[in-house]
Amino acid sequence: MELRSAEALLLDVVDLHDYDRIVTFLTREWGKKRGVAKGARRKHSRFGGQLQPLARARVDWMEKDNRDLVRISAVDLQRSARQLQQDLEGLLLSAYLADHIQEFVQENEPSDLFFRLLDSTVLAVVEGVDRGLATRYFEAWVLRLAGIFPVPEICPHCGRVLEASGVVLLVSGESMVCRACGTAAGRARNVSPEAVMFLRRIDSAKLVDMDRQRPEESTLDEIEQICTLVRRNFLQHELRSYQVIRETIAGLPGKPVPPSENP
Ligand SMILES: [Zn+2]
Repeated sequence: MELRSAEALLLDVVDLHDYDRIVTFLTREWGKKRGVAKGARRKHSRFGGQLQPLARARVDWMEKDNRDLVRISAVDLQRSARQLQQDLEGLLLSAYLADHIQEFVQENEPSDLFFRLLDSTVLAVVEGVDRGLATRYFEAWVLRLAGIFPVPEICPHCGRVLEASGVVLLVSGESMVCRACGTAAGRARNVSPEAVMFLRRIDSAKLVDMDRQRPEESTLDEIEQICTLVRRNFLQHELRSYQVIRETIAGLPGKPVPPSENP
């Protein structure tokens, strides 16, 4: 049995039996962890109101070899993300961010960059950065950290430098290539110079800086479509929260869903 303690971002909290909760959390040192918070559903539990999705907290837990679930002994809230849980859009966004981490981060693997990305994104959104921009920034960065979506600088097929106005995305969603390689591959869609510039800019710009020179809505829509295609190609399925978002938005009056980018 080993006692551990780390700063964590809480990803998901679900009920277990009558009195307990299962908490999934992200740490820098050990990646994603899942643990039982015993008695967390009881009225005067020591976990009190601390188990909030996307909150930042110090978590203490006990670990046994060969057990998937750890046992959480204490959660000390450091930063709440309650502001994100007060409206439907915020709830959907929270689920979407957490879902990415659940899919792309492994258990028991150091995940400092993913931790920093999620931490800074949540902080920026709580402080008022545009939610649409934050979502696009986050999803493009997750793909980049996962090593499947590099900055579009060099064509991975022929090695030529990519001009911002000459980039295409293979419809298979595997990479961005130059126009000549796209034509040779058969099915590719144009990527606008603005979208290419966005993907280059996020490499060095923080979210708050991006917000000061906010890209056009059409560019953000395009980034969403590109990331969806690349992500789906990699995972071979869609994130559940993304489907929920699409269905929910489709059900709201006056919010038409853009045409699907399915090949
Ligand atoms: Zn090429």
